[in-house]
Amino acid sequence: MSVPTAVGGGAIHLLAPNSDEWTYEGTNTWLLGSGQSVIVVDPGTSDPSHLLAIQHAAAESGQSITAVLLTHDHEDHSDGARELAGIVNVPIIANSAHWADVRVDDGDVLDDFGLDAVVIHTPGHSDDSICVLLPHGVLVTGDTILGGHSSGIYGRFRDFLSSLERLLPLVAAPGSFALPGHGHVVVDPHETIKRLIAHRLRRADQVRDLAMRHPNATATELAAQMYPSTTLFHRPSAVQMVQAIATYLLEADPPLTSAAHNALGRLADTRDQLTTDKGVT
Ligand SMILES: [Zn+2]
Repeated sequence: MSVPTAVGGGAIHLLAPNSDEWTYEGTNTWLLGSGQSVIVVDPGTSDPSHLLAIQHAAAESGQSITAVLLTHDHEDHSDGARELAGIVNVPIIANSAHWADVRVDDGDVLDDFGLDAVVIHTPGHSDDSICVLLPHGVLVTGDTILGGHSSGIYGRFRDFLSSLERLLPLVAAPGSFALPGHGHVVVDPHETIKRLIAHRLRRADQVRDLAMRHPNATATELAAQMYPSTTLFHRPSAVQMVQAIATYLLEADPPLTSAAHNALGRLADTRDQLTTDKGVT
């Protein structure tokens, strides 16, 4: 059973026992609250020992659970949400219409659930990804920003970049930190986000260059060049990343030459796509 750890900002951490090739150490479950109520973020698994550990951690802090919140609907975050919400008889807060008892969008506040926090819609990793901004620049990021890992983009590349730009000023104050969906607490979120934006833009340059040099290459072939160490297991994520970037470049200013347009159009064609979840850099 995971040991609850207070990380500051009124947040308690529990690690879901769902470690695998996609979740790294496992999914981070966060308990957010300072008064008598607490919101549980991303149970991540329906493993009864984890759901019990969550309830014990809240009880030991003298807090009652007021809601279960999902940062997005990928199963390594949403598993266990329905079970836990049923056990403690609270609603699920999410942007995903599939999961939400209380559907939230950008700018919504959570004070009805006893939490001083604002929801930020951050599409990119998935269309329904949200972050939660607590006082003093404490940001719950789901898989939009990870601690020491990189996540995939299963929404739109342009949205992902816009979401990161949006988050930058929210974590600019000294003492800000981020609570990610996987990996460690991010103590320098402003620098981390800036690095992430620069890294993703370099990947876009790389796709543009490779597409011009190899105009007949498929997304799978380019992904193999860009991510040579990617295991077969993660290869579909790499292919999706190439396609997301190609789509972004096709929409970019200034207009592309017709040769570039044709090469990127081939790459963006999602028929060259395998099914997947989760991430590569
Ligand atoms: Zn995840």
